[in-house]
Amino acid sequence: MIEFRYDRADDVGSALGLISEGGKYLAGGTNLVDLMRETIERPTALVDVSGISGSLEEQAGGGMRIGAGVTNSTVAAHPAIRRDYPMLSRAILAGASAQIRNMASVGGNILQRTRCYYFYDDAARCNKRTPGAGCDAIDGFNRIHAILGASADCVATHPSDMCVALAALDATVHLRGPEGERTLPFVELHHLPGGRPDIETALKPRELIISVELPALPFARRSTYRKVRDRSSYAFALVSVAAALDVEGGAVRDARIALGGVAHKPWRAFAAEAALKGKPATAESFRTAAEAELKDAAPLSGNGFKVELAKRTIISVLQELAA
Ligand SMILES: Cc1cc2nc3c(=O)[nH]c(=O)nc-3n(C[C@H](O)[C@H](O)[C@H](O)COP(=O)(O)OP(=O)(O)OC[C@H]3O[C@@H](n4cnc5c(N)ncnc54)[C@H](O)[C@@H]3O)c2cc1C
Ligand code: SF4
Repeated sequence: MIEFRYDRADDVGSALGLISEGGKYLAGGTNLVDLMRETIERPTALVDVSGISGSLEEQAGGGMRIGAGVTNSTVAAHPAIRRDYPMLSRAILAGASAQIRNMASVGGNILQRTRCYYFYDDAARCNKRTPGAGCDAIDGFNRIHAILGASADCVATHPSDMCVALAALDATVHLRGPEGERTLPFVELHHLPGGRPDIETALKPRELIISVELPALPFARRSTYRKVRDRSSYAFALVSVAAALDVEGGAVRDARIALGGVAHKPWRAFAAEAALKGKPATAESFRTAAEAELKDAAPLSGNGFKVELAKRTIISVLQELAA
């Protein structure tokens, strides 16, 4: 039995006052508690933030502000999210199960950790768990691992569906820590592994996610999320695509695309977006855009199929939106 202290925060100020070195924030607990049971995470104290930052508000000039404590189910079911950002609602509903989505929070979903099998197996070598130990995935079973942005130290993927939509939508994250408040573009929150796969985000020690802001993006009403996986439910993405498309007179005026299941972070497809702008909204342009995004893909021994799968999923999703 590993002992730890438990405190419940009443508000953001008390959460920041209670959090200590070696402590962690606890929201729905659907990831952190599993990791503690497996002794992969060993916080000395938990500060329960599940009762704070729980509101979801439409902004005056358009856009939404979603508190970090709002549950995944609440976000997915909110009428304004379903109407203005359908990709976000669909991404959340593609994840986990109804019971887990009822417990899981926005903040916890963003900071959930990889599902790399070797990360969960403390008999395996893992640089993310123990920096410098090595990585058993690189020459091991790596069917679910990364094809973009990986390093010689870690080839894990980020498991979230919701985060893929947040990356595509140009969301902003509001943070508060001992040094005050700051905001970060969502696409800068998660890191690629490089030589320090144990440092997964740009969060500073003790910083708390307060909320996520979605900008007004009228053409996101024409958006969707597609998740390709080994089972039709209760499985993480092999590849997923969140996309919004703005088409006028048969040409692409603007696009937002992000990929899941392919990298250590939700992967914003900037190259594909640039390749699409001003081009006819045809299967040929969509294939060119997908090729541009995947041109630097570096598959491992067991996941070469992901490269073509990612391209075909991008093309298929864009065709659906164009129609
Ligand atoms: C069986 C199973 C299947 C799943 N399938 C999917 C799936 O298909 N797709 C998918 O996307 N997800 C899936 N998940 C993951 C699930 O979405 C996450 O476990 C959940 O979103 C985490 O949210 P939580 O509130 O429970 O976080 P917690 O477990 O409480 O916390 C997770 C991390 O976030 C930190 N944290 C929480 N809130 C804050 C905050 N406000 N500020 C700073 N740090 C914070 C915690 O310290 C911890 O490190 C699955 C989970 C399970 C158990
Ligand atoms: S891929 Fe990353 S998380 Fe998985 S074993 Fe290697 S270092 Fe650990």
